[in-house]
Amino acid sequence: MFQCKHCGYEYTYKEALGMASSTGVGKRCPNCAKTNYFTARSRKKGMFYAFISAFVVSILGFFDVPLTIAIPLLFAFLIGYYLAMPFLFELSDHEEPLW
Ligand SMILES: [Zn+2]
Repeated sequence: MFQCKHCGYEYTYKEALGMASSTGVGKRCPNCAKTNYFTARSRKKGMFYAFISAFVVSILGFFDVPLTIAIPLLFAFLIGYYLAMPFLFELSDHEEPLW
């Protein structure tokens, strides 16, 4: 789960989800109001997961799996990804370059 790198505040699951889904680079801590960033490692993990999801869905298309199955499956991936974000991602107190 997310922990603030400035004050050590532990995010609740709900706060972490809200943070994971918000756009923008920095995420403000609800406790000390300082900005946290996702680590480069966790952003790479996120991209990897998105890539795998897209790959699986295109494989299904290749094997003539109907879209009525492939699309709900893609949504299931996205929802699973969203719900797993607070566990996949880690915070940093500074913005890390991706590569
Ligand atoms: Zn904090």
